[in-house]
Parts: sequence; C-alpha cells; structure tokens
Amino acid sequence: MSRRRALVTMTGSVFLLAGCSSQPQAGAQRGVQGDMTVGEMEKQVKALIARRNAALASGDEKAWLQGLDTGNTALIKHERMFFANLRGFDFQKLEFVYRNGPLIAEPLKYTKTLPDKTNGFIVRLLTQLRDVDSAVSATEYIYLFAQMDGAFTLVDFGPRTEDDDLVHDNPWDLTPLKVRRAGDVVLVTDGSVGDFERYVGVAARASRAVRKDWGDTPAPDAFALFLTTRAASYRRWFGVDTPAWSEGVEIPLLGVEYSEKYAGSRIVVNLSSPLTRGDPYEVMKHEITHAISNGVQKVDNAYGLSVPRWAVEGFARYIETRESAQSRALNQRVIRDGLARGLFLDDLPDNKKFYEEKYRGFNYSLGWSVFQFIAQARSHETAMKVYLAIAGKGQFDNDQGVDALFGTLYDLGLQKDAFVSKENSRFYQEWTSYLRSL
Ligand SMILES: [Zn+2]
Repeated sequence: MSRRRALVTMTGSVFLLAGCSSQPQAGAQRGVQGDMTVGEMEKQVKALIARRNAALASGDEKAWLQGLDTGNTALIKHERMFFANLRGFDFQKLEFVYRNGPLIAEPLKYTKTLPDKTNGFIVRLLTQLRDVDSAVSATEYIYLFAQMDGAFTLVDFGPRTEDDDLVHDNPWDLTPLKVRRAGDVVLVTDGSVGDFERYVGVAARASRAVRKDWGDTPAPDAFALFLTTRAASYRRWFGVDTPAWSEGVEIPLLGVEYSEKYAGSRIVVNLSSPLTRGDPYEVMKHEITHAISNGVQKVDNAYGLSVPRWAVEGFARYIETRESAQSRALNQRVIRDGLARGLFLDDLPDNKKFYEEKYRGFNYSLGWSVFQFIAQARSHETAMKVYLAIAGKGQFDNDQGVDALFGTLYDLGLQKDAFVSKENSRFYQEWTSYLRSL
C-alpha cells in the first residue's frame, strides 16, 4: 500500500487492495543540452512560468498559451481547459514555480515523438483553496522544451506521480469542471452530474449537520466536494486509485512546508454507486466528518500505523448516522450478523487488517458501535472527546486495537487504571455486552 493510499479514508463496506502504478518518466539529470546553455534554458523556462502566472491572475488566455507548440492541438486543447478550470476556483495561492532541470526527455502525454535536443524541467504548481485549505500543497509536472522555428517552445508535459507528498491527477488537470460555492461548501462536477444544483443544497445541509455535532472544535471554513458519476473519474481523481466498491473518499493533502497538520482535504463522491441510492446525504456527511477531522488530526507519519482506522471510520459512521434511526438499525444488524459469523475477534481491528475483505463491513460497524455506545451511555460530548483525544494523539505504533482506547479513556478520566486487561476493563465489559444486546 502506498503512503497516499494509506492516508485516504473511504466510505463503504468492501476494499480491494490495488497496486499503485507509477508511470515511467524522464529522470536522470542531463549534462549536455544542445545549443543552449543550462543557464539560458532556465531563464527561458522561468520567463514562461512568470508569464503564465500573470496570465492566470489576469485571465489572459492568449498569454497563457504563448510559448506552447500551437501545432499540437491536443496540448493546446488541454491548456485551454486547464486555464478555464483554474480560473473557476477561488484560490488563496495559485502559483507555478521552477524546480529543476534539465532532465533527459521522453515523450509524456501529448506527443509520441520529440524534436531533437528536447529537455525536461520540473515545474511545481502551488495551490491553496480559499477557506478549504489551511496551507499550501503542491502538484509537479515535467515540462518538455525544444527549439521550434528558432523559439524555445513547450512541446509536451506530464505529471510527476511517484512522489507521495505531492498530489497528482487533480480533476482540474483532467476534465472540464463546473464549480459552485454555496455557504461553506465548494461543489465541483465534471459535467456527468445532471441535477448538480440539487446536490449543492444537499452538501450544504450535510455540512451544517456535521458542524452542529462538531461543536466548538476547530474546523476548516469550507469543504471542497468533487462529484462524478463516472467510474473512471472516481477511481483516478487525486491519484489515489480509489476502489470501485466505495461511494465516497476523502483525500488529506500534505503541505509543502513540514507540518504536523494536513494542508487541506479533497472529497470525491461517486454518485453512480448503488450504495448512495440517489441520496448522497449520508455519504457527504461521512466524508465531511473526515475532512473536518483534518483540523485536529495529526499527519500520519507511519504509513497507516497512527490513528486507528476503527476510530476514524467508526466516528465518521457515527456522525453519518446520528440523524437516522434506520441507518443505525442497519449497523446494528451488521454487528448481529458479524457476531453470529464469528467476525468479532475479541478486539478492535488494527489498521493493517481493517479493510480485509472478510471483516471490513463488520469493522466499520464495530467502530461505529464504540462511539454510539459512549454517546448512549454518557453523551455525544463524551463520544466527541474520546474521538478527539484519539485523533489528536498521532502515533500508536501497534497499539491500535482496544489498547488505544484504554489509554485514551484513562487520559480522559473515564477509566481508573492506565493499564487494564479486557477482563478487568469495565468499559470493555459494558461495550461487549452492548454489542451482544443489539
Ligand atoms: Zn470513511
């Protein structure tokens, strides 16, 4: 599992472990650069970047396309779309910056053959969506330049995909988008969603409900939700290879500056999933719960070994179902079935096993039951406190099962002793009898 894959949280009951691909691309630093010196080329690349930054800010499409291979219709078509997409968002930070080069060039996305003496340069795009992101995150591209009719020309480019700290395959790179801001939600669609305006209202309602339960705890000012009905878009967006069984996914972004906090969050909802049954309200609540948690959750530095998945997924499921007795009854049934089938292993699952095919549906509901039980036995505020303490702790190593919970209960004064066994934990005994009573 790649680091990016280890970070995302999905909604659903099935999980397929898919390998993450990394396409071959130009890499090695090159010594000889044809007729221009490295310094001259760098100057030209930087000039093109400066011109494009200015064009983005002013809306000057002609300046944006200047210096590109105008004979390459696919490249120009993409750049027009990309320009329109970026202009459609409200960015607090939107800036291309020069990284390094020259690199050995191989054809990337928009050409099969390259002119002689083509050179690659890495260019970074810094983005921060206003109100959505608390910090700047980055995407990187390889730009290929060659001399055409005596002019230094951008002839091809492609994304850098192998760096896990960067996000790639942003929807704005891939397909024409429509963007709508309503209150604290930024809704985005690829045009495959017919009744888009209706979903803007659904998302705003979902956000209000989550914020109500979240109370005074720090939270992002807005959430960005990307909607599609296309399976291929759902899988590809933000480069996480999202499995088809899920109906929603939340992708936390790492900042370009080192931080213990995530820079922001992207939510993708698959509206063609049979699980949403045409009503994505609860899916949106679930993913917004993940996104709102990014304000308090520590960055996972241990490749999925930190905050327990049962807590992250269980809490999102708990918030998702707070308004619906029917949805809670569904989770109770999953627990009853799971107990009858022997899926309860006398512990909460650790992260490596959370999504295992046989257990995942049960594991979501088992995580839900922890918070539902605390809310019923004590209060919603106590359930929140327990979740926030777990989410904010960060590193759990291999103590992701009930030991993670016992430590937290002790820290919060909800358990007398720091170290207890399951047998002498009152909480554990009460929670497991609650499970058997469902
Ligand atoms: Zn989830």
